[in-house]
Amino acid sequence: RDKACEHPDKACHGESCPLAAGFYDRLPAAREAAAAQPLLDRSSLRAVALAHQVCPYYLGQEMARWVDVLIADYNYYFDAHALLFGLAQANQWRTAVLVDEAHNLVDRGRSMYSASLDQGQLQALRQRKPAGLTTALDRLNRQWNALHKEQRAPYQASDVLPQALLRALQQCISLIQEQMNQSPAHTDPQLLQFFFGALQFNRVAELFDEHFMFDISVRNGPRNKRYSTLCLRNVNPARLLSPRMQAARSVTLFSATLSPRRFYHDLLGMPADTAWLEVAAPFRAEQLQVRIASQVSTRYQQRSASLAPIVELIAQQYQRLPGNYLAFFSSFEYLQQVAELLARQHGQIPLWSQAPGMDEGERQAFLDRFVEGGRGIGFAVLGGAFGEGVDLPGTRLIGAFVATLGLPQVNPINEQFKQRLGRQFGAGFDYAYLYPGVRKVIQAAGRVIRGDQDRGVLVLIDERFAEPRVQQMFPGWWPPAIA
Ligand code: SF4
Repeated sequence: RDKACEHPDKACHGESCPLAAGFYDRLPAAREAAAAQPLLDRSSLRAVALAHQVCPYYLGQEMARWVDVLIADYNYYFDAHALLFGLAQANQWRTAVLVDEAHNLVDRGRSMYSASLDQGQLQALRQRKPAGLTTALDRLNRQWNALHKEQRAPYQASDVLPQALLRALQQCISLIQEQMNQSPAHTDPQLLQFFFGALQFNRVAELFDEHFMFDISVRNGPRNKRYSTLCLRNVNPARLLSPRMQAARSVTLFSATLSPRRFYHDLLGMPADTAWLEVAAPFRAEQLQVRIASQVSTRYQQRSASLAPIVELIAQQYQRLPGNYLAFFSSFEYLQQVAELLARQHGQIPLWSQAPGMDEGERQAFLDRFVEGGRGIGFAVLGGAFGEGVDLPGTRLIGAFVATLGLPQVNPINEQFKQRLGRQFGAGFDYAYLYPGVRKVIQAAGRVIRGDQDRGVLVLIDERFAEPRVQQMFPGWWPPAIA
């Protein structure tokens, strides 16, 4: 909505926004004009909407009922209150759902069915003393602080919902809702933000079961007071995604990295009779050379010892075959350490690095350096903006170095995931760390060969790449790895 909105300072009703006022009077003509368009993308939808003085966002929602094929983010079908799923149910549509890059649906599913609340936001709201709400907000804060009394460590996870806090939260939601009904045009934006967060938290609480966890992360706030963030985290979205799959006439999931099968089957809630089809890759083994540098460990404890060998590997490969390469690391810090050492020791090799939070223009500038026949090393973070969906065919990219197994960081949250997935599937480490990590490596490696004329080299740097259980996950068309 934020991307399509023409009046971000207004609210979506006739008293506030001119494009909402009289919307339904002008809708039939706008709808007819929109239906005459062969393709409704953001700009054509906007042009039609503005020509008829209706809101482009709501016109888009309306047109969802009339188009034959609709391309949208996952959440429009898989989210708890997904518009397209709702329309399909209400109208008894026989839908065929195509899910691209389906490996991402595990994490996206988890985030759609998770929610968090931050006590700092509540405190800021309490300080404003909103009329008619102070008692309810104070009660919520008291229940929140009561949770801290049980807290033995800065981070604690539980399988039980905080019922008293939820009751206090629900009371806040009802009171805010009442106020909004009475004067919809005058809701304070900060209050509104709190309201939406509370609503989402409450909705997720209603879904809470053994596939979720409730966790509290405590920190020291102003005046040495303890503040916390409460999170209802979905660990396994299968039970919630499954009805969406079952309701469609057919669902086809695409990905270059849906392996191992069992992992996706378990976490995406695919029916037992799901058919699997591995489409033969359009590439040949001789197009790619896979080398494993197992003499180097990129584990955190060995990181400083790994810098010099990684620099040598990159420099040797570059000297053997100069051209454009991508080098992937597990963090910006690691990336920077290697880039600095390479620049010091091999100043003649051009290099450029990804920086945290690059905007669209900066990302494009990074990619623009990969010119046909060019030479240099682009340093990037695995799992980041350049690890997936980047297309650099021909000599724009002739190789990649991956100096990490891509495992998610070991932290208390991921450890809880490991424990819970272990309990449920007997494969906690694999499900929480190994499979998501190696998948990122394969996605990143997939940047090298983009067409049947491409040739390239992939250097996998870590001792663990030599393990059979890791190599089993490599795409079938890859040639056997050489040391
Ligand atoms: S009705 Fe449309 S244009 Fe108006 S505020 Fe809402 S989203 Fe924005």
